Amino acid sequence: MQSKESPMSEEQIRQAVEAAYQQGTQWLGQGNVANYIPALAKADPKQLGICVQTLSGHCYEVGDTRVPFTMQSVAKVLLLVFALKELGAERVFAKVGVEPTGDSFNSIVKLETKGHHPLNPFINAGAIATMNLVLEEGNAFSDFLVFLEELLGRSPIEMEERVYRSEKETGDLNRSLAYFMKSDGVLQGDVERTLDAYFRMCSILCDARDLAHFGLMLAQDGHDPRTGKLMLDPYDCSLVKTLMVTCGMYDSSGEFAIKVGMPAKSGVGGGIVALAQGKLGVGIFSPALDEKGNSLAGAKTLERLSQALDLHYFKGSH
Ligand code: GLU
Repeated sequence: MQSKESPMSEEQIRQAVEAAYQQGTQWLGQGNVANYIPALAKADPKQLGICVQTLSGHCYEVGDTRVPFTMQSVAKVLLLVFALKELGAERVFAKVGVEPTGDSFNSIVKLETKGHHPLNPFINAGAIATMNLVLEEGNAFSDFLVFLEELLGRSPIEMEERVYRSEKETGDLNRSLAYFMKSDGVLQGDVERTLDAYFRMCSILCDARDLAHFGLMLAQDGHDPRTGKLMLDPYDCSLVKTLMVTCGMYDSSGEFAIKVGMPAKSGVGGGIVALAQGKLGVGIFSPALDEKGNSLAGAKTLERLSQALDLHYFKGSH
């Protein structure tokens, strides 16, 4: 078992990342790429990449770590940190809750049965409400992009136009969620503008290295892994990581917490960002999804990595 006195060696991490990747490859061929957004259905389901970045500044990459993909729901974490920074936790959580739903990410049911406000910022309704709050309080979508440039150290932040258009054309369920919330007074102002920004956000391009970088920033309570500069409020980071534990992996967050035990957030583009507190950040990409919407090979890869390095949050420090 790992302890603070015997930190993981570089060789141990390298071997663990390789073993995790090998484990993940056994699951390629299972699951399905998202097809409810037509442009996503064109992804190659055989891709898998893992990038691990550590506190000591090392970066380990295996497989398709440089293939760009759309963030989809992973961007909800970035939107939340932006909203917390701009507006503060009190205003954000007056709009969206902090409870898991047990429903699929695009479900409308709890908006009717559990009060008007979306239960958390990582379901579609919650992210749309967060985007609406950010825009209606005077931020432009371009401000969010500038924030991402600084956070990810990548400029410019680009969007996949094809995926954006495809989702905008077919996103009737998200449109329904938004108008439902408008009729209940949760959304204000221009709903179409909010939806447009939401669809654009989902189509932001990244790769596994970007996600590992962001994961490590959260693992370091908001410090930029490259510069050491404090980019995010440590309290905001702890809020976000807690929500990643309880709501980050759709309606299999509980099972994932038991098996993997790392704060994580997935997206239907096949990305997963994960971290081990004070240790490392992980970015994974593999577009074939399980029935809940999580990258299937990606989650298996993370499970193996967690076991190999004893990363579960309730293990490893004794
Ligand atoms: N753009 C997707 C949607 O709104 C994001 C879903 C996801 O990644 O969970 O349906």
